[in-house]
Amino acid sequence: MSTRTPLMAGNWKMNLNHLEAIAHVQKLAFALADKDYDACEVAVLPPFTDLRSVQTLVDGDKLKIKYGAQDLSAHDSGAFTGEISGPMLAKLKCTYVAVGHSERRQYHAETDEIVNAKVKSAFKHGLTPILCVGEELAVREAGNHVSHTLAQVDGGLKDVPAEQAESIVIAYEPVWAIGTGKVCGAGDAQEVCAAIRSRLAELYSQELADKVRIQYGGSVKSGNVAEIMANPDIDGALVGGASLDADEFVKIVRFRD
Ligand code: PEP
Repeated sequence: MSTRTPLMAGNWKMNLNHLEAIAHVQKLAFALADKDYDACEVAVLPPFTDLRSVQTLVDGDKLKIKYGAQDLSAHDSGAFTGEISGPMLAKLKCTYVAVGHSERRQYHAETDEIVNAKVKSAFKHGLTPILCVGEELAVREAGNHVSHTLAQVDGGLKDVPAEQAESIVIAYEPVWAIGTGKVCGAGDAQEVCAAIRSRLAELYSQELADKVRIQYGGSVKSGNVAEIMANPDIDGALVGGASLDADEFVKIVRFRD
């Protein structure tokens, strides 16, 4: 039986302004307050422009909900117009930052080298990276999904020391399942998540591999989360579209109810 606490994280993508963000987080907090939800850690990843509002609410009301960003710059400061740095996110007391989301890899040409630099920057500034990995449809159809995903794990973790790697979160998100309504079969998701854990054991140690939380992401909803979470190597979900509906996200968090 795993001792890893599942992490349910909502990736809002480019949705909800800072006022909507406050209303949304209040709704989550209210819906989760009557229950002991220590069984799951809950986090939201709002757009950058919402983070200060979410921080004020979470700190002010001492909410257990954690928050983080959807990306960060690999640089600490300087002439990088439009970017947001690790120190800025740390100052906002973010816990998490997603790194290498498939939409960043696809629309912003983020390579494993860039993703690796961002992972290192996150750790340098005390943020926990949620390293997103996963294959496109053609790669899965060719049967190369495991090797493709493990190469992204290797790339993202290159030269990251064990003292840092032990706290990383890895999100396995098959690209063809993101925002499409197509869920990776629970057995298929388990196959890749187990392979990721074995790779962590090879790169570091079995002890470290057993500590790291590996999430599944890709069209997770209240109707399929229990089946996904029944797998021994899946320790939570990274939820996109369904996290924008507070009631639905609460049902996902309370998948055991
Ligand atoms: C995501 O954006 O990480 C994601 C998994 O999206 P969705 O849940 O909408 O598929």
